[in-house]
Amino acid sequence: MPQERFRFKCLRCGRCCRDPNTIVTLSISDILAIANHLHLGVDEVLSVLGFYHFSENVPKSQIEKMVTRPVLTEKGSAFLGLLKGEGGKCVFLNEENACMIYPSRPKICRTFPFTYTLVKRMKGGVDHTVKMGIAQKGLEYCPGLHASGASLVSLQESKKLGVETIQELEHHSRFAEKWNKLVQTGRKKATARGLIEFILNEQKGLGV
Ligand code: SF4
Ligand code: SF4
Repeated sequence: MPQERFRFKCLRCGRCCRDPNTIVTLSISDILAIANHLHLGVDEVLSVLGFYHFSENVPKSQIEKMVTRPVLTEKGSAFLGLLKGEGGKCVFLNEENACMIYPSRPKICRTFPFTYTLVKRMKGGVDHTVKMGIAQKGLEYCPGLHASGASLVSLQESKKLGVETIQELEHHSRFAEKWNKLVQTGRKKATARGLIEFILNEQKGLGV
């Protein structure tokens, strides 16, 4: 069956950047991209990062199904995300309603309002394809999906973005597992600072 085609044009309204109920979750690759773009050190990365802890013990089976794998910190298991300011506004949204890190914005910001799922097709051998959908939040408030002049989203470009996103999430999961294991076996201390140092060392080949 052919993939459904979507129309979209971002109106730069900033609603997705001001949604108090959505955390801009970050993968290791997102953190490295922002740190490289702004030339941030450990303290500066910590100043824009949120550690979103679970309010209760979440079963391992549920954690394994989560899109972005949590990491262990001194306060328990947490998602990494961008810090939010007053009213839930993203720390990188400026007064002109513009993203201050647009070229290195996280993947979740690039893919919104769409979602991507890797689908395995078994016909005549294993084949992977990327299925595109609209995120629930996109349906709720993104005017770009109904904008006049919205053009058809390129299937080729969206597939490329979808594959990259899925690969980054897989890389993030492997990295988070490695970090969590180091902490659980006492080889690393579960501190936010230690984690960021570990992430920044990743690109030098020292992290993993
Ligand atoms: S809510 Fe939609 S149109 Fe508005 S900035 Fe976000 S992606 Fe663009
Ligand atoms: S990083 Fe940029 S695009 Fe993403 S939520 Fe923040 S301001 Fe918006």
